Amino acid sequence: MTSFLVVGAGAAGLLLGRDLARAGKRVTILEARQRCGGRIYPLPVEEFGYPAEGGPEFVHGAAPVTRALMREAGLALVKRSGTRWNARSGILRPDEPSFPDADRFYQALMRVEADLPIAEFLDTHFAETRYADLRRSVTRTVEGYDAADPQRFSTLALREEWTARDDGEHGRIAGGYGALIDYLAAECRRRGATIVLDAEVTALGEAGDRLTAQCRDGRCFAADGAILAVPVPLLSEITLPAAARRQAAAAADIGFGNVVKLLLRFATKWWADATPRDLSDMAFLLSDATVPTWWTQNPQPHLVLTGWYAGPRADRVAPLSEADLIEMGLASLEAVFAVPAERLRHDLVAARAINWGNDPLARGAYSYATPRSRRALSVMTKPEGRIFFSGEALYAGPDMGTVEAALASGQETARMILSAA
Ligand SMILES: Cc1cc2nc3c(=O)[nH]c(=O)nc-3n(C[C@H](O)[C@H](O)[C@H](O)COP(=O)(O)OP(=O)(O)OC[C@H]3O[C@@H](n4cnc5c(N)ncnc54)[C@H](O)[C@@H]3O)c2cc1C
Repeated sequence: MTSFLVVGAGAAGLLLGRDLARAGKRVTILEARQRCGGRIYPLPVEEFGYPAEGGPEFVHGAAPVTRALMREAGLALVKRSGTRWNARSGILRPDEPSFPDADRFYQALMRVEADLPIAEFLDTHFAETRYADLRRSVTRTVEGYDAADPQRFSTLALREEWTARDDGEHGRIAGGYGALIDYLAAECRRRGATIVLDAEVTALGEAGDRLTAQCRDGRCFAADGAILAVPVPLLSEITLPAAARRQAAAAADIGFGNVVKLLLRFATKWWADATPRDLSDMAFLLSDATVPTWWTQNPQPHLVLTGWYAGPRADRVAPLSEADLIEMGLASLEAVFAVPAERLRHDLVAARAINWGNDPLARGAYSYATPRSRRALSVMTKPEGRIFFSGEALYAGPDMGTVEAALASGQETARMILSAA
């Protein structure tokens, strides 16, 4: 096969498009949006004073593919700094990372052999009332960090995540993830790939030994092979030939969680002295408020608080407007800091609330593992013909649901196609 259509210009689609084009393949990348990046979504500098991230923001842990690409692009990492605070008991105190009965929890976790949903694991081993705090703590982390439904989230994936060595500095890319996308899009074009925006693919069809992609606006593209690098909930909306349709159906066994991300820019750093504690150096805050998790741009001076509302509860606010969600965020800050929402509204310079579940080209934030995900991955990544699948949900390593997962999957898909050629 010498020519390829890549459907989706997110991190995965762009990296695999670049790698295929660099190896001499003819590549056309078809993207439904009017921009590249997908879930990487920098907001206009005028709104927040910097390219604030509507989607991913942090580089977590080792992230080898991301860091190699950053080096290639000459992009630096801004290390995370500042203090973490916890207001869960109603009193603000520096974060205590451990949770009740942690030793007992890890002992039971290490003994698991057959995978099961984490909610079932907790019901089996920690059903008694005295473990209520442990159950709440684990459930809250699964919902808040993995954006996952505890009734579906894999216990073995949780074990892998919670016992992984955390090597590598956490931080943000100077210039944001958008800078990485700009670099990748430029690389694709430099290597001869074509990026077509505003091209929503509705069907892939076989015509002899060629593949055709039909777009919603009637345009049609043809090549020898195609790679679908779209979020997994969208696969069922693209008409596919029978074999690829069977592979795509396995995606139902991969979890996909939702996040509402709130960005609030203020005129003053009101939180620094809003309480008896000195919070001028605050980085993260965990609380029991409706929007429980907040962070600052520390060490950057931008006066922006970011709120994080994730997991099954984020699905339940689908009918709320952006203005409603912003009010929900302000009410949460009022509850945590005991500062009247009126004062916060007065100080507000810009605000956004992005419910990724309502984005028709994402349908959620990122994937998580269920006990059936491994089998789904092996079905979907097995080369069956001229259609391949790529993207963050199709990555099998320890960084599930991240930009690293998307980039590593894109790189692996290109490698697999090139090694078969
Ligand atoms: C709020 C939020 C916060 C996050 N935080 C982090 C973080 O801090 N760190 C981190 O590493 N990761 C984070 N992530 C996860 C990360 O953003 C994703 O894992 C990654 O960006 C996914 O890349 P992708 O290429 O697989 O998919 P996408 O970026 O979704 O790209 C797929 C592309 O396909 C396009 N598309 C869809 N349907 C069609 C169609 N029919 N025809 C043509 N094109 C189509 C879409 O428009 C999109 O551009 C976060 C995600 C969200 C939403």
